Amino acid sequence: MAELIDGKAISQAIKDEIREETAKLSEKNIKPCLAVILCGNDPASTVYVANKKKACEYCGFDSVSLELPEETSEEELLNKISELNKDERVNGILVQLPLPSHINEDAVIAAIAPEKDVDGFHAVSVGNLLIGRPGFVSCTPAGVIQLLKRSNVEISGKECVVIGRSNIVGKPMSVLMLRENATVTICHSRTKDLKEVCKRADILIVAIGKPRMIDASYVKDGAVVIDVGIHRLEGKKLCGDVDFESVEKVASKITPVPGGVGPMTIAMLMKNCLEGCLRQNGLLNE
Ligand code: NDP
Repeated sequence: MAELIDGKAISQAIKDEIREETAKLSEKNIKPCLAVILCGNDPASTVYVANKKKACEYCGFDSVSLELPEETSEEELLNKISELNKDERVNGILVQLPLPSHINEDAVIAAIAPEKDVDGFHAVSVGNLLIGRPGFVSCTPAGVIQLLKRSNVEISGKECVVIGRSNIVGKPMSVLMLRENATVTICHSRTKDLKEVCKRADILIVAIGKPRMIDASYVKDGAVVIDVGIHRLEGKKLCGDVDFESVEKVASKITPVPGGVGPMTIAMLMKNCLEGCLRQNGLLNE
């Protein structure tokens, strides 16, 4: 039976470390500050934003929250971002996605100052990641690296298969595993023999967006399986992209859903905001 990788406990440990660092910073009269913009009233987004504000409080950060109506124009939103870019109190800016359909997400992401891009979605952040320069890394994949490292999973020299090539998860995830010296294969909807490719993996990272699709027949005996997926089934139960009951019988370690990758995303957002604050105050040696 696979050992559980406990994302709840690991994310809590990270938030506690951040809280300690924030307390030390307060002796220098520095307090990290995150600005969160919510546009419209998507119920899931409203919950995510509330959780981000709660995490800020826990970590000792200030937070600025902008709740804009659904009918906000793209220009209005871009103007708000421009104000936050100039606001010296604000270290990180996060625009909760998805945005209402009349607003161009790419334009909004591009408008955030790269030094405040705590989501790591700006082209400058992505470029820095690719060429190995310091900068913000997308929170979910950064969280997966922390889960692996803090569970003592050796990455260097291992065969890693990432299923999914989205800009938010799959692509940055692959680059991060490469940075950790894994041999990385990226799979997507045109991959031939997905099962055979997945079975090569010592570390299988699944971000396919299909409930419980990956069962034990995709997994090598003893592989480490990370499930990035999150779906709400009828009856409100949550599940991932991995068929947990089947895969836990063959994997050596596995993340559950909920309580695996999910809690890591907010913890890494806090980490990015702290990093932004330190960098903006000249306190980061890089
Ligand atoms: P996307 O839908 O953007 O990407 C899915 C990827 O899977 C695509 O690259 C697609 O390929 C590939 N894919 C789809 N079907 C198949 C198939 N049959 N065989 C092989 N590859 C396939 O999803 P995201 O990356 O945004 O998210 C992935 C999952 O992670 C979702 O379940 C999402 O809810 C979850 N998520 C969880 C987060 C968290 O905090 N825990 C944060 C972000 C996402 P192609 O490119 O060819 O279309």
